[in-house]
Amino acid sequence: MSAFNSAALLATRASASDEGAIIRMSQKTRDLRAQGRDVVSLTLGEPDFETPLFIQEAATDAMRAGFTHYSPVAGIPELRNAVAHKLKTENGLAYSASQIVVANGVKQAIANAVFSLIEPGDEVILLAPFWVSYELTVKLAGGTPRILSAGVEQEFKVSAQQVADALTPQTKLLILNSPNNPTGAVWTKGELAALAKVVSKHPRLMVLSDDMYEYIVFDGEASSFGALPGMLERTITVNGFSKSFAMTGWRLGYAAAPEPIARSMARMQSAFTAGANSFVQRAAIAALEAPRDDVARMRESYRRRRDIVAAGLAEIPGIKLSPIPATFYAFPDVSSFLGRRTEAATVDALCDWLLDVHGVTTVPGSAFGDDRCIRLSFAASERDIKTGLDRLKAGFAALK
Ligand code: PLP
Repeated sequence: MSAFNSAALLATRASASDEGAIIRMSQKTRDLRAQGRDVVSLTLGEPDFETPLFIQEAATDAMRAGFTHYSPVAGIPELRNAVAHKLKTENGLAYSASQIVVANGVKQAIANAVFSLIEPGDEVILLAPFWVSYELTVKLAGGTPRILSAGVEQEFKVSAQQVADALTPQTKLLILNSPNNPTGAVWTKGELAALAKVVSKHPRLMVLSDDMYEYIVFDGEASSFGALPGMLERTITVNGFSKSFAMTGWRLGYAAAPEPIARSMARMQSAFTAGANSFVQRAAIAALEAPRDDVARMRESYRRRRDIVAAGLAEIPGIKLSPIPATFYAFPDVSSFLGRRTEAATVDALCDWLLDVHGVTTVPGSAFGDDRCIRLSFAASERDIKTGLDRLKAGFAALK
Protein backbone atom coordinates (compact mmCIF):
# COMPACT_ATOMS: atom_id res chain seq x y z
CA MET A 1 0.00 0.00 0.00
CA SER A 2 1.18 3.52 -0.73
CA ALA A 3 2.39 5.57 2.23
CA PHE A 4 0.69 8.63 0.82
CA ASN A 5 -1.37 10.24 3.57
CA SER A 6 -4.15 12.39 2.16
CA ALA A 7 -5.48 13.12 5.66
CA ALA A 8 -2.30 15.06 6.37
CA LEU A 9 -3.23 17.43 3.55
CA LEU A 10 -6.44 18.62 5.15
CA ALA A 11 -6.63 22.31 5.94
CA THR A 12 -7.00 23.20 9.62
CA ARG A 13 -10.56 24.35 9.01
CA ALA A 14 -11.52 20.86 7.86
CA SER A 15 -11.47 19.65 11.45
CA ALA A 16 -14.29 22.01 12.40
CA SER A 17 -17.39 19.91 12.82
CA ASP A 18 -20.97 21.01 12.31
CA GLU A 19 -23.87 19.51 14.26
CA GLY A 20 -21.50 16.87 15.68
CA ALA A 21 -23.78 15.84 18.52
CA ILE A 22 -26.97 15.76 16.42
CA ILE A 23 -25.34 13.62 13.75
CA ARG A 24 -23.76 11.36 16.37
CA MET A 25 -27.05 10.82 18.20
CA SER A 26 -28.91 10.22 14.92
CA GLN A 27 -26.31 7.68 13.80
CA LYS A 28 -26.42 5.92 17.14
CA THR A 29 -30.21 5.77 16.89
CA ARG A 30 -29.96 4.16 13.45
CA ASP A 31 -27.35 1.67 14.69
CA LEU A 32 -29.49 0.62 17.66
CA ARG A 33 -32.57 0.27 15.47
CA ALA A 34 -30.56 -1.86 13.03
CA GLN A 35 -29.84 -4.15 15.99
CA GLY A 36 -33.58 -4.47 16.54
CA ARG A 37 -33.85 -2.02 19.46
CA ASP A 38 -37.02 0.04 19.84
CA VAL A 39 -35.86 3.67 19.98
CA VAL A 40 -37.99 6.82 20.07
CA SER A 41 -36.13 9.73 18.52
CA LEU A 42 -36.84 13.29 19.62
CA THR A 43 -33.75 14.52 17.82
CA LEU A 44 -34.35 16.13 14.49
CA GLY A 45 -35.67 19.63 13.92
CA GLU A 46 -37.66 18.51 10.94
CA PRO A 47 -41.42 18.81 10.43
CA ASP A 48 -43.05 15.39 10.15
CA PHE A 49 -45.67 16.80 7.75
CA GLU A 50 -45.60 16.45 4.00
CA THR A 51 -44.99 19.60 1.98
CA PRO A 52 -48.49 20.98 1.15
CA LEU A 53 -49.74 19.56 -2.14
CA PHE A 54 -50.22 22.92 -3.89
CA ILE A 55 -46.53 23.66 -3.36
CA GLN A 56 -45.55 20.28 -4.77
CA GLU A 57 -47.80 20.93 -7.75
CA ALA A 58 -46.27 24.33 -8.41
CA ALA A 59 -42.85 22.65 -8.58
CA THR A 60 -43.99 19.89 -10.93
CA ASP A 61 -45.85 22.41 -13.13
CA ALA A 62 -42.65 24.46 -13.39
CA MET A 63 -40.61 21.38 -14.22
CA ARG A 64 -43.07 20.28 -16.89
CA ALA A 65 -43.03 23.78 -18.34
CA GLY A 66 -39.28 23.41 -18.83
CA PHE A 67 -38.28 25.62 -15.93
CA THR A 68 -35.28 23.41 -15.25
CA HIS A 69 -32.32 25.56 -16.17
CA TYR A 70 -29.83 27.69 -14.26
CA SER A 71 -31.46 30.56 -12.46
CA PRO A 72 -30.03 34.05 -11.77
CA VAL A 73 -27.61 33.89 -8.84
CA ALA A 74 -29.68 36.10 -6.53
CA GLY A 75 -32.93 34.36 -7.46
CA ILE A 76 -35.62 34.75 -10.10
CA PRO A 77 -37.09 38.28 -10.13
CA GLU A 78 -40.64 37.07 -9.38
CA LEU A 79 -39.48 35.35 -6.19
CA ARG A 80 -37.35 38.29 -5.09
CA ASN A 81 -40.44 40.48 -5.58
CA ALA A 82 -42.63 38.04 -3.67
CA VAL A 83 -40.14 37.92 -0.78
CA ALA A 84 -39.85 41.73 -0.67
CA HIS A 85 -43.66 41.94 -0.59
CA LYS A 86 -43.89 39.34 2.19
CA LEU A 87 -41.25 41.09 4.28
CA LYS A 88 -43.00 44.43 3.88
CA THR A 89 -46.56 43.31 4.56
CA GLU A 90 -45.94 40.69 7.25
CA ASN A 91 -42.81 41.91 8.96
CA GLY A 92 -42.75 45.68 8.42
CA LEU A 93 -39.40 45.45 6.61
CA ALA A 94 -39.06 47.79 3.65
CA TYR A 95 -36.49 45.96 1.57
CA SER A 96 -36.63 46.31 -2.21
CA ALA A 97 -36.41 43.25 -4.47
CA SER A 98 -32.80 44.13 -5.33
CA GLN A 99 -31.92 43.65 -1.66
CA ILE A 100 -33.14 40.04 -1.61
CA VAL A 101 -30.77 37.13 -2.23
CA VAL A 102 -32.40 33.73 -2.62
CA ALA A 103 -30.20 30.88 -1.41
CA ASN A 104 -30.09 27.11 -1.21
CA GLY A 105 -31.51 27.09 2.30
CA VAL A 106 -31.15 29.54 5.16
CA LYS A 107 -27.92 27.81 6.06
CA GLN A 108 -26.39 29.08 2.86
CA ALA A 109 -27.95 32.52 3.32
CA ILE A 110 -26.20 32.73 6.69
CA ALA A 111 -22.90 31.58 5.21
CA ASN A 112 -23.22 34.19 2.44
CA ALA A 113 -23.78 36.90 5.05
CA VAL A 114 -21.00 35.81 7.40
CA PHE A 115 -18.48 35.38 4.59
CA SER A 116 -19.40 38.79 3.23
CA LEU A 117 -18.72 40.56 6.52
CA ILE A 118 -16.34 38.58 8.67
CA GLU A 119 -12.59 38.16 8.41
CA PRO A 120 -9.81 37.36 10.89
CA GLY A 121 -9.83 39.87 13.72
CA ASP A 122 -13.61 40.42 13.64
CA GLU A 123 -15.69 39.37 16.61
CA VAL A 124 -19.18 37.95 16.30
CA ILE A 125 -21.54 37.87 19.25
CA LEU A 126 -23.48 34.64 19.62
CA LEU A 127 -26.30 34.38 22.13
CA ALA A 128 -26.20 30.95 23.75
CA PRO A 129 -28.08 28.70 23.55
CA PHE A 130 -27.71 29.10 19.78
CA TRP A 131 -28.28 27.04 16.67
CA VAL A 132 -25.16 24.96 16.01
CA SER A 133 -24.33 26.28 12.56
CA TYR A 134 -23.60 29.87 13.58
CA GLU A 135 -20.42 29.14 15.50
CA LEU A 136 -19.00 26.89 12.82
CA THR A 137 -19.70 29.37 10.02
CA VAL A 138 -18.09 32.23 11.96
CA LYS A 139 -15.00 30.09 12.61
CA LEU A 140 -14.79 28.98 8.98
CA ALA A 141 -14.80 32.65 7.97
CA GLY A 142 -11.88 33.24 10.37
CA GLY A 143 -13.94 35.30 12.83
CA THR A 144 -13.87 35.04 16.60
CA PRO A 145 -17.13 33.98 18.26
CA ARG A 146 -17.91 35.83 21.50
CA ILE A 147 -20.42 33.63 23.27
CA LEU A 148 -22.81 35.23 25.77
CA SER A 149 -25.05 32.91 27.74
CA ALA A 150 -28.46 32.95 29.33
CA GLY A 151 -29.82 30.04 31.34
CA VAL A 152 -33.30 28.85 32.20
CA GLU A 153 -33.63 31.52 34.94
CA GLN A 154 -33.37 34.19 32.20
CA GLU A 155 -35.72 32.22 29.97
CA PHE A 156 -32.66 31.70 27.77
CA LYS A 157 -32.60 35.31 26.59
CA VAL A 158 -29.30 37.17 26.79
CA SER A 159 -29.99 40.72 27.92
CA ALA A 160 -29.16 43.94 26.10
CA GLN A 161 -26.87 44.80 29.03
CA GLN A 162 -24.88 41.59 28.55
CA VAL A 163 -24.42 42.53 24.91
CA ALA A 164 -23.40 46.10 25.80
CA ASP A 165 -20.78 44.75 28.21
CA ALA A 166 -19.32 42.42 25.57
CA LEU A 167 -18.92 44.89 22.71
CA THR A 168 -15.41 45.80 21.61
CA PRO A 169 -14.15 47.86 18.67
CA GLN A 170 -13.66 44.53 16.87
CA THR A 171 -17.29 43.46 17.20
CA LYS A 172 -18.90 43.47 13.76
CA LEU A 173 -21.87 41.13 13.90
CA LEU A 174 -24.44 39.89 16.37
CA ILE A 175 -26.52 36.85 15.46
CA LEU A 176 -30.03 36.87 16.86
CA ASN A 177 -32.47 34.00 16.50
CA SER A 178 -35.95 34.74 17.80
CA PRO A 179 -37.96 32.48 17.99
CA ASN A 180 -35.00 30.42 19.06
CA ASN A 181 -33.69 26.99 18.24
CA PRO A 182 -33.02 25.18 20.65
CA THR A 183 -35.00 26.92 23.43
CA GLY A 184 -38.26 28.12 21.88
CA ALA A 185 -37.67 31.54 23.46
CA VAL A 186 -39.08 34.67 21.80
CA TRP A 187 -37.59 38.12 22.48
CA THR A 188 -40.34 40.65 23.22
CA LYS A 189 -40.55 43.96 21.37
CA GLY A 190 -39.27 45.70 24.50
CA GLU A 191 -36.27 43.36 24.75
CA LEU A 192 -35.49 43.91 21.08
CA ALA A 193 -35.82 47.68 21.49
CA ALA A 194 -33.29 47.57 24.35
CA LEU A 195 -30.95 45.59 22.12
CA ALA A 196 -31.48 48.05 19.25
CA LYS A 197 -30.43 50.89 21.54
CA VAL A 198 -27.15 49.10 22.27
CA VAL A 199 -26.59 48.27 18.60
CA SER A 200 -27.22 51.83 17.44
CA LYS A 201 -24.44 53.14 19.70
CA HIS A 202 -21.79 50.93 18.12
CA PRO A 203 -20.24 52.43 14.97
CA ARG A 204 -19.92 49.24 12.94
CA LEU A 205 -22.19 46.58 14.36
CA MET A 206 -24.61 44.64 12.13
CA VAL A 207 -27.28 42.19 13.28
CA LEU A 208 -28.11 38.99 11.49
CA SER A 209 -31.71 38.25 12.42
CA ASP A 210 -32.64 34.61 11.77
CA ASP A 211 -36.45 34.62 11.67
CA MET A 212 -36.76 30.97 10.65
CA TYR A 213 -39.47 30.05 13.17
CA GLU A 214 -41.61 33.19 12.83
CA TYR A 215 -44.77 31.23 11.99
CA ILE A 216 -44.40 28.63 14.73
CA VAL A 217 -45.39 30.91 17.60
CA PHE A 218 -48.05 29.84 20.13
CA ASP A 219 -47.98 32.56 22.75
CA GLY A 220 -47.21 36.23 22.24
CA GLU A 221 -45.76 37.62 19.08
CA ALA A 222 -42.45 37.40 17.25
CA SER A 223 -41.01 40.64 15.89
CA SER A 224 -38.38 41.10 13.26
CA PHE A 225 -35.35 43.01 14.51
CA GLY A 226 -35.00 45.05 11.32
CA ALA A 227 -38.48 46.52 11.81
CA LEU A 228 -37.33 48.49 14.86
CA PRO A 229 -36.75 52.20 14.22
CA GLY A 230 -33.37 52.78 12.60
CA MET A 231 -32.44 49.12 12.48
CA LEU A 232 -33.16 48.21 8.84
CA GLU A 233 -29.79 49.50 7.64
CA ARG A 234 -28.10 47.52 10.44
CA THR A 235 -29.90 44.24 9.79
CA ILE A 236 -29.55 41.24 7.57
CA THR A 237 -32.78 39.28 7.79
CA VAL A 238 -32.75 35.59 6.91
CA ASN A 239 -35.75 33.34 6.59
CA GLY A 240 -36.85 30.34 4.59
CA PHE A 241 -39.24 27.56 3.82
CA SER A 242 -37.86 24.47 5.60
CA LYS A 243 -39.74 24.69 8.87
CA SER A 244 -42.83 26.81 8.19
CA PHE A 245 -43.83 25.09 4.96
CA ALA A 246 -42.38 21.63 5.77
CA MET A 247 -39.86 21.96 2.95
CA THR A 248 -36.58 20.89 4.56
CA GLY A 249 -35.45 18.80 1.61
CA TRP A 250 -36.24 21.45 -1.00
CA ARG A 251 -33.37 23.65 0.17
CA LEU A 252 -34.62 27.18 -0.19
CA GLY A 253 -34.11 30.26 1.92
CA TYR A 254 -33.32 33.93 1.48
CA ALA A 255 -31.56 36.91 2.95
CA ALA A 256 -32.49 40.58 2.80
CA ALA A 257 -29.79 43.14 3.44
CA PRO A 258 -28.55 46.65 2.69
CA GLU A 259 -27.65 46.83 -0.99
CA PRO A 260 -23.81 46.51 -0.79
CA ILE A 261 -24.10 43.48 1.49
CA ALA A 262 -26.80 41.90 -0.69
CA ARG A 263 -24.53 42.29 -3.73
CA SER A 264 -21.66 40.69 -1.87
CA MET A 265 -23.85 37.82 -0.68
CA ALA A 266 -24.77 37.08 -4.30
CA ARG A 267 -21.07 37.07 -5.20
CA MET A 268 -20.34 34.62 -2.38
CA GLN A 269 -23.12 32.39 -3.56
CA SER A 270 -21.91 32.64 -7.13
CA ALA A 271 -18.50 31.38 -5.99
CA PHE A 272 -19.87 28.32 -4.22
CA THR A 273 -23.19 27.19 -5.69
CA ALA A 274 -24.75 29.76 -8.09
CA GLY A 275 -28.52 30.30 -8.18
CA ALA A 276 -30.90 28.13 -6.15
CA ASN A 277 -32.95 25.39 -7.77
CA SER A 278 -35.10 26.98 -10.48
CA PHE A 279 -38.37 25.06 -10.15
CA VAL A 280 -38.25 25.15 -6.36
CA GLN A 281 -38.25 28.95 -6.63
CA ARG A 282 -41.54 28.74 -8.53
CA ALA A 283 -42.91 26.53 -5.75
CA ALA A 284 -41.73 29.08 -3.18
CA ILE A 285 -43.70 31.81 -4.93
CA ALA A 286 -46.80 29.64 -4.67
CA ALA A 287 -46.09 29.09 -0.97
CA LEU A 288 -45.68 32.82 -0.29
CA GLU A 289 -48.69 33.92 -2.31
CA ALA A 290 -51.17 31.46 -0.79
CA PRO A 291 -53.06 32.06 2.46
CA ARG A 292 -51.24 30.64 5.48
CA ASP A 293 -53.80 27.84 6.07
CA ASP A 294 -51.30 24.97 6.06
CA VAL A 295 -48.91 26.95 8.20
CA ALA A 296 -51.72 27.50 10.73
CA ARG A 297 -52.73 23.83 10.65
CA MET A 298 -49.18 22.70 11.36
CA ARG A 299 -48.76 25.32 14.07
CA GLU A 300 -51.89 24.09 15.86
CA SER A 301 -50.51 20.59 15.78
CA TYR A 302 -47.17 21.76 17.21
CA ARG A 303 -49.08 23.67 19.87
CA ARG A 304 -50.84 20.48 21.04
CA ARG A 305 -47.51 18.70 21.14
CA ARG A 306 -45.92 21.59 23.02
CA ASP A 307 -48.66 21.29 25.64
CA ILE A 308 -48.02 17.56 26.00
CA VAL A 309 -44.25 18.02 26.25
CA ALA A 310 -44.46 20.93 28.71
CA ALA A 311 -46.91 19.03 30.94
CA GLY A 312 -44.86 15.82 30.74
CA LEU A 313 -41.57 17.51 31.60
CA ALA A 314 -43.21 19.43 34.46
CA GLU A 315 -43.97 16.07 36.08
CA ILE A 316 -40.28 15.16 36.32
CA PRO A 317 -38.88 16.34 39.67
CA GLY A 318 -35.51 18.03 39.31
CA ILE A 319 -36.05 19.34 35.79
CA LYS A 320 -36.28 23.09 35.29
CA LEU A 321 -38.23 24.31 32.30
CA SER A 322 -38.98 27.78 31.05
CA PRO A 323 -42.04 28.55 28.92
CA ILE A 324 -41.94 27.37 25.30
CA PRO A 325 -43.85 30.09 23.44
CA ALA A 326 -42.63 29.00 19.99
CA THR A 327 -40.82 26.47 17.74
CA PHE A 328 -40.91 22.70 18.14
CA TYR A 329 -38.15 22.36 20.70
CA ALA A 330 -38.03 22.00 24.46
CA PHE A 331 -34.81 22.70 26.30
CA PRO A 332 -35.13 21.44 29.87
CA ASP A 333 -32.37 22.24 32.35
CA VAL A 334 -31.21 18.91 33.79
CA SER A 335 -28.27 20.27 35.78
CA SER A 336 -29.61 18.90 39.07
CA PHE A 337 -28.96 15.40 37.72
CA LEU A 338 -25.43 16.06 36.47
CA GLY A 339 -22.09 15.18 38.01
CA ARG A 340 -23.26 12.77 40.66
CA ARG A 341 -23.15 9.49 38.75
CA THR A 342 -21.18 8.35 35.72
CA GLU A 343 -24.39 7.81 33.73
CA ALA A 344 -24.97 11.53 33.99
CA ALA A 345 -21.48 12.91 34.51
CA THR A 346 -22.20 15.45 31.75
CA VAL A 347 -25.16 16.21 29.48
CA ASP A 348 -23.40 14.26 26.73
CA ALA A 349 -23.08 11.19 28.96
CA LEU A 350 -26.69 11.62 30.07
CA CYS A 351 -28.03 11.70 26.50
CA ASP A 352 -26.00 8.60 25.63
CA TRP A 353 -27.32 6.80 28.70
CA LEU A 354 -30.95 7.82 28.03
CA LEU A 355 -30.57 6.34 24.57
CA ASP A 356 -28.62 3.20 25.50
CA VAL A 357 -30.65 2.25 28.55
CA HIS A 358 -34.05 3.90 28.06
CA GLY A 359 -34.41 3.98 24.27
CA VAL A 360 -35.04 7.70 23.80
CA THR A 361 -32.84 10.01 21.74
CA THR A 362 -32.32 13.65 22.70
CA VAL A 363 -29.49 16.08 21.91
CA PRO A 364 -27.05 17.33 24.56
CA GLY A 365 -27.24 21.08 25.09
CA SER A 366 -23.47 21.25 24.70
CA ALA A 367 -24.12 21.17 20.95
CA PHE A 368 -25.88 24.52 21.37
CA GLY A 369 -23.38 26.13 23.72
CA ASP A 370 -25.15 25.07 26.95
CA ASP A 371 -23.99 22.13 29.05
CA ARG A 372 -26.86 22.15 31.55
CA CYS A 373 -29.72 21.31 29.22
CA ILE A 374 -30.90 18.74 26.71
CA ARG A 375 -32.93 19.43 23.58
CA LEU A 376 -36.06 17.53 22.65
CA SER A 377 -37.70 18.08 19.30
CA PHE A 378 -41.45 17.65 19.30
CA ALA A 379 -41.67 17.61 15.52
CA ALA A 380 -42.68 13.99 16.08
CA SER A 381 -45.95 12.09 16.34
CA GLU A 382 -47.97 12.49 19.55
CA ARG A 383 -47.51 8.77 20.13
CA ASP A 384 -43.73 9.03 19.93
CA ILE A 385 -43.78 12.12 22.12
CA LYS A 386 -45.80 10.35 24.81
CA THR A 387 -43.63 7.23 24.70
CA GLY A 388 -40.51 9.38 24.72
CA LEU A 389 -41.74 11.29 27.78
CA ASP A 390 -42.51 8.03 29.61
CA ARG A 391 -38.99 6.87 28.91
CA LEU A 392 -37.50 10.14 30.08
CA LYS A 393 -39.56 9.91 33.26
CA ALA A 394 -38.28 6.40 33.90
CA GLY A 395 -34.70 7.48 33.15
CA PHE A 396 -34.70 10.52 35.43
CA ALA A 397 -36.48 8.58 38.18
CA ALA A 398 -33.66 6.02 38.08
CA LEU A 399 -31.10 8.79 38.49
CA LYS A 400 -32.61 10.23 41.64
N1 PLP B 1 -31.87 28.70 11.18
C1 PLP B 1 -32.31 28.01 12.23
C2 PLP B 1 -32.55 28.72 13.52
C3 PLP B 1 -32.53 26.62 12.14
O1 PLP B 1 -32.97 25.94 13.20
C4 PLP B 1 -32.27 25.97 10.91
C5 PLP B 1 -32.43 24.51 10.78
O2 PLP B 1 -32.43 23.76 11.71
C6 PLP B 1 -31.81 26.73 9.84
C7 PLP B 1 -31.61 28.10 10.00
C8 PLP B 1 -31.48 26.11 8.50
O3 PLP B 1 -32.50 26.17 7.62
P1 PLP B 1 -32.43 25.63 6.12
O4 PLP B 1 -33.02 24.26 6.13
O5 PLP B 1 -33.25 26.59 5.34
O6 PLP B 1 -30.99 25.63 5.70
